[in-house]
Amino acid sequence: MSLEGIYDEGNVFALILAGKIPSTPIYEDAHTYAFLDIQPQSKGHALVISKWSKARNILEIEPEALCQVMASVQKVATAIRKAFDPDGIHVAQFNGAPAGQTVFHLHVHIVPRWEGDAPGFSVHGQGGFADADALRALAQEIRAQL
Ligand code: 5GP
Repeated sequence: MSLEGIYDEGNVFALILAGKIPSTPIYEDAHTYAFLDIQPQSKGHALVISKWSKARNILEIEPEALCQVMASVQKVATAIRKAFDPDGIHVAQFNGAPAGQTVFHLHVHIVPRWEGDAPGFSVHGQGGFADADALRALAQEIRAQL
């Protein structure tokens, strides 16, 4: 899907927000929701989304929603740093399939990085799906720092 298109109400993050499929929560406020990525690029890889914006990408999102999302990104990144003491934190956001976007509800990745990690994103799926119990344990460690 390119930058053109219509928001799909059945996209996986809309289904997560609707409670139709499970996710591993980290943080939630009135406007945003943060949860762990099911195919993590590293230990503690989190995603932040707007609860109300129907934007697929950064070109569409309301500035208010973007500010809300980024405020939560900062909050969650701080908690991830406290929980796991990474050497760096990669904050990423992709727009359109050619740029690597696979889910078309705007989201921001928070990926803790350690010295020696390969830079950049690996192809989704390369690392496989995380174990649900392991994700729950990591989420608990992050939530404890919020
Ligand atoms: P994108 O490439 O669109 O920026 O990233 C989408 C991300 O969503 C990927 O990192 C992928 O692993 C993650 N993802 C896809 N489906 C699900 C899901 O059902 N649950 C969770 N927690 N993450 C998902």
